[in-house]
Amino acid sequence: MTDNFDRDHLWHPYTSTIDPLPTYTVERAEGVGIYLDDGTRLVDGMSSWWAAVHGYNHPRLNAAANEQLKKMSHIMFGGFTHEPAIRLGKMLLEILPPNMNNIFYADSGSVAVEVAMKMAIQASLSRTGNKNKTNFVTIRSGYHGDTWNAMSVCDPVTGMHSLFGSALTPRWFAPQPSCAFYDEWDPTSTDSLEQIIVDHHDEIAALILEPVVQGAGGMYFYHPNYLKKARQLCDRYDIYLIFDEIATGFGRTGRLFAWEHAHVMPDIMCIGKALTGGYLTMSAVATTKDVADTISRGDAGVLMHGPTFMGNPLACAIAIESIRLLKESNWYDNVTRIERIMKADMAPAAAFANVAQVRILGAIGVIEMKRPVDVGEFQRHCVAEGIWVRPFGKLVYIMPPFIISDDELRFLIEKLLKIVEQL
Ligand code: PMP
Repeated sequence: MTDNFDRDHLWHPYTSTIDPLPTYTVERAEGVGIYLDDGTRLVDGMSSWWAAVHGYNHPRLNAAANEQLKKMSHIMFGGFTHEPAIRLGKMLLEILPPNMNNIFYADSGSVAVEVAMKMAIQASLSRTGNKNKTNFVTIRSGYHGDTWNAMSVCDPVTGMHSLFGSALTPRWFAPQPSCAFYDEWDPTSTDSLEQIIVDHHDEIAALILEPVVQGAGGMYFYHPNYLKKARQLCDRYDIYLIFDEIATGFGRTGRLFAWEHAHVMPDIMCIGKALTGGYLTMSAVATTKDVADTISRGDAGVLMHGPTFMGNPLACAIAIESIRLLKESNWYDNVTRIERIMKADMAPAAAFANVAQVRILGAIGVIEMKRPVDVGEFQRHCVAEGIWVRPFGKLVYIMPPFIISDDELRFLIEKLLKIVEQL
């Protein structure tokens, strides 16, 4: 299925060149259907890693792209601005936390995290004059991307810390929040975080975390009250709060953004992935007027970042249409419908001998296995059964496009459970 060129010359995410995982050649994708070159149709359980919330090849997103292409695909954002960037900015400020005021468009999730961390450092230096207040605290099991500083705040065990060793700046890590989303709130679960902040706030510019849902670092859902305490600690000890909503944004967790589970607003917020409905790589970092102006009053006088493809008009035009679609499409009804079906149909997997736990929140369904899964073998079964799911470690999870029908979702889950049970 995979021709030799791909196998011999193209790197895929996290794969070996000596013993690569199998790849499948996709010819086209439409709705929740992914069509391989041999005609096989797979029901998509991944939304291309949280991104394709409206499904693939959407006529409205295609039309938005085509319209914009007639005008310009790209123009530098230094010294120029354009209607798509302005219109998108206005739409984002309507749906982001009300304290957000300034938006920085970036190229990918990881870059957004880099920018957010730079914002926090620049604002912190400008505000406090304390040249040591440049480090970060985070929580274990987090994932924030693969670039240098993003990597440094990923979980030190499941992330790449041991591999890159001293090349990564050491950060402060609080334990993964012990109180899960559906548990009764345990106020002692923030004690370790508090201790780190009490002891080291003079060195810490910001606390960065994924609010409520931790994605690639553990697919874990924690109690929203954790965020309330985090906000209090940040306020008390003069630390910025960064929410990485790159995975959680645009409805996936059952709220438009995950901060709404706790009504806790961050100082800096990263979004990406579903921003363009999965069409193009684009992210954004939003912040308050206070943070933005504090940076501008600092030594540099400007935010020290400016990527080539910043504010790409084509991506902006598609993002505008994607947000419009989301608003018009009853995303909330769809996400709660998906949640209800997953709760009913995935729950039986909890009784399988090889399954440790089943967790469901919004349009995210997670089966945590007792042992790590062989990805290549797992995906061979998936393709044979007509579904697309890509596990990592012990985690088998689905987050389908919001437009998936009841029947297709039931098909996806039925096949998934069949494969999981036989592992
Ligand atoms: N933050 C979170 C929470 C993510 O899930 C991801 C991507 N999985 C990233 C950052 C990095 O995004 P990208 O892959 O677009 O660089």
